[in-house]
Amino acid sequence: MPTNEAGSADIVFAPAAVPARGQITRLRGQLAPQTQLVAVIEGADDLSPSAIECLFGEGIDDLIDPADAAAVLLCIARAKATFRRRQALHGEIEMLERVRTTLLAAMNNLPSPIFFKDADGLYRAFNTAFQTFYGKSREDILGASAFELTAFSTASTFIAADRRLITDGGVQIYETDVADANGAERHVAFYKSLVLRDDGSVEGIAGAMIDITERNEMEAQLREAANRDFLTGLYNRRYFMTHAETIMRRNQANGRPSYIAIADIDHFKGINDRYGHPCGDAVLRHVADILRATLGEAHLVARAGGEEFFIMLNCSSFREASRLVQRLRDAIAKHPYDWEDERLWVTASFGLTDIRSEERSLSPPLARADEALYDAKNHGRNQVQTMETQFVSDSGGI
Ligand code: GH3
Ligand code: MG
Ligand code: MG
Repeated sequence: MPTNEAGSADIVFAPAAVPARGQITRLRGQLAPQTQLVAVIEGADDLSPSAIECLFGEGIDDLIDPADAAAVLLCIARAKATFRRRQALHGEIEMLERVRTTLLAAMNNLPSPIFFKDADGLYRAFNTAFQTFYGKSREDILGASAFELTAFSTASTFIAADRRLITDGGVQIYETDVADANGAERHVAFYKSLVLRDDGSVEGIAGAMIDITERNEMEAQLREAANRDFLTGLYNRRYFMTHAETIMRRNQANGRPSYIAIADIDHFKGINDRYGHPCGDAVLRHVADILRATLGEAHLVARAGGEEFFIMLNCSSFREASRLVQRLRDAIAKHPYDWEDERLWVTASFGLTDIRSEERSLSPPLARADEALYDAKNHGRNQVQTMETQFVSDSGGI
């Protein structure tokens, strides 16, 4: 009787007349599942088909007549072939098990939550990062729906997205906010994909959640920094040129007027020369602070370069814009800057103009504002000069 590594029989010949019902079943129960059980029955050739079916039904794997030597040899050859197939299968199962364990370990080492939900939207598999994100145990999540893991509105977003994915197929990518285990809102990108059975029906949805909260914040900071002048914190020229043009177009589309002013600090070179560059920088910040504080959020102000500032005024008439610019000039002139023991009385000159309704670029109005500024410098500085080109129809035009 050949034996396998585990010590249990590989093949058992059960000599019997036609065995009593249940006898084979009992014997089969005592044997290892891989054991080949062969019934040895004299006159096996004469058994009725139903008797043979019954024997196999009870658990035999083969049937021989001991008088038939050739049949015995064939039976052994068949058993050997079966063992070989089983061993190959066993090796394959072991390999699959190793792959499964490795994949699970890899998934659990990944920092991003990964999950699989069945076609009913119930979580069936997930990694440790998924558990950690929601702060729930394996048992709590297994078989749970999104509504048991997260807020109603968030779960509704997930379910709606799943429905779209089931309809559209392919890979789905979307961003949304999800509260983590500590209740902190995280901005995450979902990558979901349908898992289909061989017949094309939906087995479920596999997905990964990538936390992009920090990345988004950093991107926003970088975008913001790229728009700012590092010395004063005001917007820079590049941002002003694109953003002011957008405002100009919007105002033109709505029949609203736009006004643009240029401010330039008077005799700024003298401040640098007398008190040094750091003092000049501090004065630039001081003037920027006054412009920012006086203008508030309603208007757009930028440091265009050097000691020059561009202002897009959100006013409904030239007179209103002109008054506001006068207030800016006044505020600068009235607030000296204290540098060490010195009190510096700083002034600035301004050129103001309106943007014509047919103008499509900021260049012509900026050139007019610059011309008006030149006038202000020539007329003694610390003043506002204007260059108005058209009367506006709506509210308060002069
Ligand atoms: P005006 O009244 O005609 O405007 O005379 P001004 O001296 O203000 O003008 P000018 O164009 O002759 O001088 C501007 C100076 O601003 C020259 C330049 O060195 C200085 N400047 C430009 N950028 C900076 C900066 O970032 N920091 C400092 N401290 N100085 C700067
Ligand atoms: Mg100047
Ligand atoms: Mg200048």
